[in-house]
Amino acid sequence: MVRLIWFLILLGIVYWLVKRAFFPKKRRPTPHEEIGEEMVQDPVCGCYIPKSRALTLLEGEKKLYFCSQECFRKYRSSNALPKS
Ligand SMILES: [Zn+2]
Repeated sequence: MVRLIWFLILLGIVYWLVKRAFFPKKRRPTPHEEIGEEMVQDPVCGCYIPKSRALTLLEGEKKLYFCSQECFRKYRSSNALPKS
């Protein structure tokens, strides 16, 4: 009985290794891979969101996009540097 358990564990490990070898970790989709709408990256959590659904923040020359109010606020608070 114990042998059978070990065998199953070993089988599981082999299965996992084979699966990992043939199906490497899914990459994060890049904006160009998304069909249709342009995707933008949230600098706080790193996820991609459709441009129309993103919260935007204009910082100087560049536009920043956020997936949620939470990320937006997080960014604002971590970048709320006093003017020098
Ligand atoms: Zn986010």
